[in-house]
Amino acid sequence: MRSTLYPRPTSRSASGSSPRRSARRERAAEARYPTCGVRGCANDRFLQTDHVVALADGGLTEDGNLWRLCTFHHDKKTYAGWKVVGTTHNWNLVPPDNDPDPP
Ligand SMILES: [Zn+2]
Repeated sequence: MRSTLYPRPTSRSASGSSPRRSARRERAAEARYPTCGVRGCANDRFLQTDHVVALADGGLTEDGNLWRLCTFHHDKKTYAGWKVVGTTHNWNLVPPDNDPDPP
């Protein structure tokens, strides 16, 4: 059986954000993170570009705030309270009970 997945995309609007610009950042993140950005994780499949500081928390869509995570670690960060530690492009992700600098 053939199923319809989703509606055919409509033509791009000339207004709004620039898809080309975000695609360039995406490619930069891909080049910098051929595998998951978490130390010790060699996953190189289904990586997702992630904002280190979430947009909702004031993070910017810029090279210094983007890294790539595997779905496992992305879920940990988004839903399980794992925290990003380290410095720009030398980040790591740690579980909440492993915070090296608790408040
Ligand atoms: Zn990972």
